[in-house]
Amino acid sequence: MSKVQGYAALNAKSPLTFFEFERRALRPHDVKIDILYCGVCHSDLHKVRNEWKNTMYPVVPGHEIVGRIVDLGPQTSLFKIGELVAVGCLVDACRLCTSCLEGLEQYCEKQSIFTYDSIDPVDRSATRGGYSSQIIVDEKFTLKIPTAFKEKDLPAVAPLLCAGITTYSPLRHWHVGKNSRVGVVGLGGLGHMAVQLACAMGAEVAVFTSSKNKVQDAKKLGAHHVVLSSEKKEMELFIDSLDFIINTVSATHSLDHFIQLLKRNGTMCMVGLPESCYPSFDTAQLIFRRKSLAGSLIGGIRETQEMLEFCAQHHILPEIEIIAIQKINEAFERMLKNDVKYRFVIDMASLHSKKPI
Ligand SMILES: [Zn+2]
Ligand SMILES: [Zn+2]
Repeated sequence: MSKVQGYAALNAKSPLTFFEFERRALRPHDVKIDILYCGVCHSDLHKVRNEWKNTMYPVVPGHEIVGRIVDLGPQTSLFKIGELVAVGCLVDACRLCTSCLEGLEQYCEKQSIFTYDSIDPVDRSATRGGYSSQIIVDEKFTLKIPTAFKEKDLPAVAPLLCAGITTYSPLRHWHVGKNSRVGVVGLGGLGHMAVQLACAMGAEVAVFTSSKNKVQDAKKLGAHHVVLSSEKKEMELFIDSLDFIINTVSATHSLDHFIQLLKRNGTMCMVGLPESCYPSFDTAQLIFRRKSLAGSLIGGIRETQEMLEFCAQHHILPEIEIIAIQKINEAFERMLKNDVKYRFVIDMASLHSKKPI
């Protein structure tokens, strides 16, 4: 066992606070990672505030982790000490079910073990995430950072581990490519990745946003069209025109608005998980044009590695604002007001700059 420091929420109401806890001793296939950077995902906020009604406190959030290997279990073979690595949303799964065998550990039929707020299958302890100084992970759930990324890129690599893969996986699954017309709903942490990825895959991309001040940003990110979703006339121009929509908004909204933009056989995939269920949608819209409404959850380990390589090759990185861990509560408040372009990333070196509270 080793003592590590981090930030935790002790309950749904109080701010995150300095927290010391034990990491497990290295198992034969484990690697020990010094965490350099950790992205701040909207799920962290949902979990900390118990908005999905299943948080086990204390919770140490963080599943967009970039770090360096500092120790290896005796039976590891994939990594070297000193190597730069990443950890995303998953740290284990049953590895035997059909989903796991297909490399889709996020859909494990027994149980996916998430990076934080899951129960470790071996010692039954709670998993704790990247808002901390170190993490210990099985090497099979550890990702390599492509060498094409430079040292200065590392903070921005962190959000790829959730925002990147959450958007990459559905774009791949629904075969987005050169002849696709793709809609991206919402330009936040996920949306701004989706635009860049879909463009790099060769698609024609339309962004649908409710905020005027994001129009320029969307264009800069490569969007071919930007539509204010509140403007009926602008929306009408896109009716029956899109092959695929990735809907990244995590607050409930009218789905009919966007389903009407799909062509026959088109699919809208939801990737934002709201606090409450959506009001129902107009089924006729689906039936009369054989449209689909779908969902997608992050991505498996193999696909996450593939996404990292794709981003390195196409020079795709999120836009980020680096913060000290002491600013995390402020960052959460700003996230709620959409006051972030487009992802906060914690510089974990800041953790050691303050004494325990
Ligand atoms: Zn996330
Ligand atoms: Zn499984």
